[in-house]
Amino acid sequence: MKKVIIIGYGPAGVTAAIYLKRTGIDSLVIGKDLGALDGYSDLVENYYGLQEPIEGNKLIQQGVDQAKKLGIQVITDSVISLKQSEMGFTVQTQHKTYEALSVLLATGKTRQTLNISGFTKFRGKGISMCATCDGYFYRRKKLAIIGCGAYMQHELEYLNRISSDVTVFTHGNELTCEVQNTVIKDIVLSFKGDEKITHIVTDKGEYPIDGVFIALGVPSSVDFASQLGVIVEKNNISVDENYQTNIEGLFAAGDIIGGKLQIAKSVYDGMQAADSIYSYLKNKSKKA
Ligand SMILES: Cc1cc2nc3c(=O)[nH]c(=O)nc-3n(C[C@H](O)[C@H](O)[C@H](O)COP(=O)(O)OP(=O)(O)OC[C@H]3O[C@@H](n4cnc5c(N)ncnc54)[C@H](O)[C@@H]3O)c2cc1C
Repeated sequence: MKKVIIIGYGPAGVTAAIYLKRTGIDSLVIGKDLGALDGYSDLVENYYGLQEPIEGNKLIQQGVDQAKKLGIQVITDSVISLKQSEMGFTVQTQHKTYEALSVLLATGKTRQTLNISGFTKFRGKGISMCATCDGYFYRRKKLAIIGCGAYMQHELEYLNRISSDVTVFTHGNELTCEVQNTVIKDIVLSFKGDEKITHIVTDKGEYPIDGVFIALGVPSSVDFASQLGVIVEKNNISVDENYQTNIEGLFAAGDIIGGKLQIAKSVYDGMQAADSIYSYLKNKSKKA
């Protein structure tokens, strides 16, 4: 029986594990990959203490290595189900089943990519997956956002603050939220340009553009949480001020609870969640 299982070894999960370790609580951290920044070799430069920008996947790997160096058990496996048990929770991965008194969900958000010609070529050269991260470089430019739902709306709010010319491309999907911007429902066929992107090509025409933000979906890494009856709103797991979900002993932190989808915020969440898990376990042991 583990005291805590942390699902996810991104910034939120690893920070929680580090803070728990300092209170004397050993956690088991299970992740399937490096999360949002897995395979992301572009540079992160907006995180505290970086003397030089660092490749995204390197930063996350350093966090994992830091946890391991501190003696925290970190394993790579996919969690496929989470169930309540008599003592707490049963976490089933592809390879093993674990029991824990409490669980922290730090599973981030899966962002969809696009299987569209030019996407890979212009990613980082006019195509971005994150408005809050890269929007700053596109101030007052002619922008497009590709998406149709709540996630797109979240990213659009930010883009509308930095540019008065943002067009929404739904890529053939129906819009499931309200926006004030121009909406184009064409299917996007390719991205065109030279060194940088210059045009979006659709089934109906070509549109000049300086920057494209992809905000399709944000499909759920909350599936197994939902199976437990966890309250999920707009694809974010709902937590109280202690980062606890509506299920006692089940906590969540990082991108998965919404708000700013940034490393700094996930680190903060992880630290706060660790505090709450510590108090939860202390109270639980008093009652036992
Ligand atoms: C392209 C891109 C660029 C970005 N650039 C920046 C930037 O420059 N600056 C910045 O501050 N932020 C940036 N971000 C955002 C930042 O990466 C996220 O906010 C941050 O990583 C979220 O941390 P997290 O711990 O909540 O989740 P993640 O980092 O996404 O980690 C989630 C973890 O959960 C695991 N997981 C998920 N499901 C399962 C499962 N079923 N079983 C086991 N493990 C599971 C994953 O494997 C991973 O280990 C960027 C994001 C993207 C996509």
